[in-house]
Amino acid sequence: NIIDVKTVQKDYQVKLGYGILSELNEVIDANRPILVITDDYVKQLHYKELVEYLPSQHEVISFSNPPEQSKTLNGYQHILEFAYKKHYPRGLQVIAFGGGAIGDLAGYFAATYKRGVSFIQVPTTILAHDSSVGGKVAINFKDVKNMVGAFYQPDCVIYELSFLDTLNEAEQRSGFSEAVKHSMLSKEPFLITIMNTITSMDQLVLERQKLLKLITDCIEVKNYYVLEDVYDTSVRQFLNFGHTLAHGLEKQYELTHGEAVAFGMCFDLFLSKTTRDEGVNFLDLYSYFFRLGYFRDLNTIDAKKLYKVMRHDKKNRDENLVFIGLKNLGEPYKIEISKDLFFQKMKEFLINIK
Ligand code: NAD
Ligand code: ZN
Repeated sequence: NIIDVKTVQKDYQVKLGYGILSELNEVIDANRPILVITDDYVKQLHYKELVEYLPSQHEVISFSNPPEQSKTLNGYQHILEFAYKKHYPRGLQVIAFGGGAIGDLAGYFAATYKRGVSFIQVPTTILAHDSSVGGKVAINFKDVKNMVGAFYQPDCVIYELSFLDTLNEAEQRSGFSEAVKHSMLSKEPFLITIMNTITSMDQLVLERQKLLKLITDCIEVKNYYVLEDVYDTSVRQFLNFGHTLAHGLEKQYELTHGEAVAFGMCFDLFLSKTTRDEGVNFLDLYSYFFRLGYFRDLNTIDAKKLYKVMRHDKKNRDENLVFIGLKNLGEPYKIEISKDLFFQKMKEFLINIK
């Protein structure tokens, strides 16, 4: 499948499917230097497949830490040092080979090295259906997620879905949350279809046709919001559904990005319901996720600690927090609440899901 992404910065294609890695030949210029950025686990699992389609004279930087811990100033500096030693010119082609954290880091490097070099995304996680499209690239700073970043579109996304076969269940769940998010934000919502057809996590990567359709549909939704608002000043912010709380949770607890987003979406729906009596039943969504194995390690939540991280969220004004609610499926809107109301709502929410 091919999806055309059009932005004011650049138009490019997302090519996805099984056995499409050979498309790399089409996009890579063998006469220019190539730098692959990845992590050790992905490298160990899948580099042998990638290398078949790369010219022999390429270099690889592989991070041994978990990628989220490399998506930092240190990780960025490590790539800079390497590029400095190699005297890479502006003709450099950077290939992000991994999940969202690797994509964000490699993309931030590509966006800033000599004011921007070619950037190709080769995503390897379900979550990366979201992160590899739309051009947001960033690194974290201290406890603030994505504090330093840019809008920088790739030249191409080559999404070889057979890489997803090796994802463990936690990583599958992490990516699946963003798919559920897209199904709820779509102008033609498909949450109900998802709930009816995906009833256990261990089947997800095995049913290839279903997965290809799911990921294609989700990228189309993402594409719709990005097309309208590349620089994230209006409707694109709705893609932040679930993320205000998630960014706090992810930093404070041992949760994957997507699992935190799943919890955050349930909380956002609870806010819609209880502040405006609108929206989709949060308990239905919560129990769907729970049946799929989500939230098992989430016991106590310290709202004060969360607030400390959440107040850095880019959507906020003053001390208030901004969340994304849903009037109905496919109809997102912003909800702004005070710090005190947040504490109260968090308490009520936790009682409701007990
Ligand atoms: P990740 O790079 O941290 O990968 C998660 C884990 O999966 C890693 O341990 C990695 O080694 C492993 N892994 C990757 N591919 C694998 C495979 N094929 N088989 C087995 N294991 C594999 O990132 P992620 O979970 O994909 O994404 C999370 C990150 O994405 C966060 O940093 C988040 O902020 C970012 N994100 C960015 C955007 C955006 O628009 N830029 C959108 C959503 C999320
Ligand atoms: Zn996300």
